[in-house]
Amino acid sequence: MSITGIKGMNDILPGEVETWQFLEEQARRIFSLYGFSEIRVPVVEKTELFQRSIGETTDIVEKEMYTFRDKSDNSLTLRPEGTAPVMRAFIQNKLHTRDPIAKLYYMGPMFRYERPQKGRYRQFHQIGAEVIGVEDPKIDAQVLTMLAHYFEAVGITDVELQINSLGCPECRPGYRQALTAFLEDRLEALCEDCRRRYRTNPLRVVDCKVPGCKEATVGAPSVLDHLCGDCTEHFTRVQEHLREVGTAFSINARMVRGLDYYTKTTFEMVTGSLGSQNAVAAGGRYDGLIKDLGGPPLPGIGFAMGVERLALMKGEARIEAARPDLFLAALGEEASRYAFALMSRLQRRGLRTEMDYEGKSLKAQLRRADKLMAKRVLILGEDEMASRQGQLRTMETSTQESVPLDGIEEFLVVAAPPAP
Ligand code: ATP
Ligand code: MG
Repeated sequence: MSITGIKGMNDILPGEVETWQFLEEQARRIFSLYGFSEIRVPVVEKTELFQRSIGETTDIVEKEMYTFRDKSDNSLTLRPEGTAPVMRAFIQNKLHTRDPIAKLYYMGPMFRYERPQKGRYRQFHQIGAEVIGVEDPKIDAQVLTMLAHYFEAVGITDVELQINSLGCPECRPGYRQALTAFLEDRLEALCEDCRRRYRTNPLRVVDCKVPGCKEATVGAPSVLDHLCGDCTEHFTRVQEHLREVGTAFSINARMVRGLDYYTKTTFEMVTGSLGSQNAVAAGGRYDGLIKDLGGPPLPGIGFAMGVERLALMKGEARIEAARPDLFLAALGEEASRYAFALMSRLQRRGLRTEMDYEGKSLKAQLRRADKLMAKRVLILGEDEMASRQGQLRTMETSTQESVPLDGIEEFLVVAAPPAP
């Protein structure tokens, strides 16, 4: 029996990978316009990093982490998200001493032990961005605008930017208390998870997707009514700045992110087209996180996008795979050797070139050229070799012309008009 891959961990095959490359290239392009640099961090970290940052009572830490012991008995975890590792790297490398403001982006695989389904996997990929060192709400608006710009650039339009504020350590306890009081009378109606959350992390109950919990929490107190003066002012200004630059958004006061480190502004890019996997990107402010992890008391804000969900949405508008500029159809040993050397030279000069290696008939070679969607075919048979004249066929127009083999390389690279 052959060995299969691990459930929920996917191969990204040719045909799909072009979409991924496009999504990644656009991220690099757009993020660099806003002054972000890439950072690459390991996929494995000490378990403690995620426990301390994401929070002990979150779904991720309670049940979704791939945690194991290495041969020295250290507890390690495959990263379930990117922010904590990036902050760990920021602190460890003292990046704040290089520049008081850091704008960083990352992309790569993340791991969560979840029930695999469309848009939800055990190895998935995120593209994320973080800004460290700015408290001004202008930076919140800038990060959200960059996110919206990215979605425009990749041509995903069926999304809505929703924002909320989760307050700060000043005002969160008051909200938590009001919410606990509200939930107290409704415990019976909540799912098992939420009855536990009621004690450990009541804010998460508002965000539960179970229909019974949704019903039971209609009319729950809104976090926005419990913000302190500072947080209210900050949230108001974020909205003003978004309007100033024309970034569309709506407010969703029930959005509670699944990680404990968030403060003030939180947001999601949501879609109606992916069922219950409706968040394509999500993020927020984490003003206390860097200090909690032993670093300087610097504020931060960031987001992560799920690449699988982006690719699903991009869907049919798949980017065409790279087509060969030229296919060399050679017949016979002499022509085949000639074609092989020519192909090598053309590739070096930037022409995407293919040939046949199996001594197939001309018909079979043309079929293969068609399958690869080659733009042109150069036919090199015995007659062509003898007369030193190749037949150059343009596939789209089915036109053919005779071209001298002397100087053919120059002709193909420089003189021939680009084929459609
Ligand atoms: P969800 O509510 O769908 O579980 P989340 O709140 O756990 O999402 P985040 O931790 O904020 O997600 O991660 C940011 C983004 O990463 C999500 O918006 C989503 O696009 C993507 N993502 C998260 N978990 C998965 C997964 N298991 N498989 C695929 N993509 C994921
Ligand atoms: Mg989740």
